[in-house]
Amino acid sequence: MGSAVSVVMKFGGTSVADADAIDRLIGIVRGHIGSSGAYPPVVVVSALAGVTDKLIEVARQAEEGDGERAIATLQALLDRHLTMAATVTVTSRVALLASVRAEFEELIGLVHALAVLREVSPRSLDAVLAAGELVSSRIVASALVDHDIPSAWVDPRSVLVTDAEYMCAAPDMEATRRRSQERIRPIIDAGQVPVLGGFVGATPNGVTTTLGRGGSDYSAAIFGAALGAREIQIWTDVDGMLTADPRVVAQAQLVPALSFAEASELAYFGAKVLHPSTILPAVDRNIPVRILNSHRPDRPGTVITADGRRPDGALTAIACKRNVTVIDITSTRMLMAHGFLRRLFEVFERFKTAVDVVTTSEVSVSVTVDDTRRLDDIVDNLRHFADVGCEPEMAIISMVGENLRSDPALFGRAVMALDRVALRLVSQAAGRRNVTFVLRDADVPAAMGRLHETFFEARALTKSRR
Ligand code: ADP
Ligand code: ASP
Ligand code: MG
Repeated sequence: MGSAVSVVMKFGGTSVADADAIDRLIGIVRGHIGSSGAYPPVVVVSALAGVTDKLIEVARQAEEGDGERAIATLQALLDRHLTMAATVTVTSRVALLASVRAEFEELIGLVHALAVLREVSPRSLDAVLAAGELVSSRIVASALVDHDIPSAWVDPRSVLVTDAEYMCAAPDMEATRRRSQERIRPIIDAGQVPVLGGFVGATPNGVTTTLGRGGSDYSAAIFGAALGAREIQIWTDVDGMLTADPRVVAQAQLVPALSFAEASELAYFGAKVLHPSTILPAVDRNIPVRILNSHRPDRPGTVITADGRRPDGALTAIACKRNVTVIDITSTRMLMAHGFLRRLFEVFERFKTAVDVVTTSEVSVSVTVDDTRRLDDIVDNLRHFADVGCEPEMAIISMVGENLRSDPALFGRAVMALDRVALRLVSQAAGRRNVTFVLRDADVPAAMGRLHETFFEARALTKSRR
């Protein structure tokens, strides 16, 4: 075993959005080194805010054969990166600007070729999207050096080994652990901060892959587990995991602590602050994950550990996943026949579509899906043996809390709070730390508002009256 690694710090898009954000990042890294002494943190960064969306737009323009527009969009992105790079560095400016230009030159060459072919495969899309993190991490590494924090840029493609499922690659943890020990560990041991782009990896033979949208959180957890970190920190633009999505419920409050299981349920059911896979590597090595606000680094944030039960017996948080589709599969003849469910789920497996919620009744099975890219194929295949109906513009609300297991009254209160909201499906997980409602997407703001009021605002009111 090598020496201990202190922490992995991941900075999301808005935490590297502009020069001020980079200044805050430098302050956070400096503060950490100052307080913890020996071990520098490992820094993982996302692309600058909005860049991945722009790169997807570039790929679409190339696919439509509009090479000129794609290159113009890239040129604007290059300018944004060059301006930022020049603002955050002095001594290393010339070298940094050259490497930013080189990264974009390669990208422009690739996009040009894609526009001529009018074809963007998932594999090519990953090569385009990876550029966002490759270039943002180079800027951060140079900015740290320029501010007297010794650091070294590491190409994530030389460390994070994945399978070839482009756009949602899965890590090979053992190979990644070996490479992390070989390539990241010596940098830490030399007293430098390794800086890597998140979201990006490569197959064993070096083809660029990505881990799926929001995947930088996952990268941070993968590197944290591979290096045996003491903590994985997710620096973002909110104070931590909140009791609800703050864009839906303005009164959302901080959840100071929660369990790995609760966090993964919340992430899976729409709490975007954490990529759903982030928790897996952390659980395997029992490494706490802390969510922190890069705008207010002095705040305590949320800590996620093996046992995060709320001491007051209440619910932990409510998440929502918007715009899902409900598929009803009915077969009076077949439903109870053995092999029916296997046949049904094989269709979803064949078209690589994940099912989120499943409920069954005497004659029908209802499922929800988020990804509708293969919906037509799925429906066509299901129709070989059942009647199928689809309902788009639905949503999932998931109430999560370890205490749901011990307090059945919580479920009753939720149903009462949702009085007059039409509930399409209701399901309670086997582990019973979550209750899930499927309803019309248009009803989400009202339903979330009522649930939040019932479980969190009333309590805050009693507390403040005490
Ligand atoms: P980053 O760029 O740092 O990865 P994201 O945009 O991916 O940040 O995630 C942070 C955002 O997640 C917040 O700004 C907030 O709008 C959203 N969010 C949704 N649900 C929650 C929740 N339960 N708690 C905190 N944030 C949430
Ligand atoms: N930049 C990637 C995205 O926007 C990954 C991430 O930020 O986590 O999805
Ligand atoms: Mg994110």
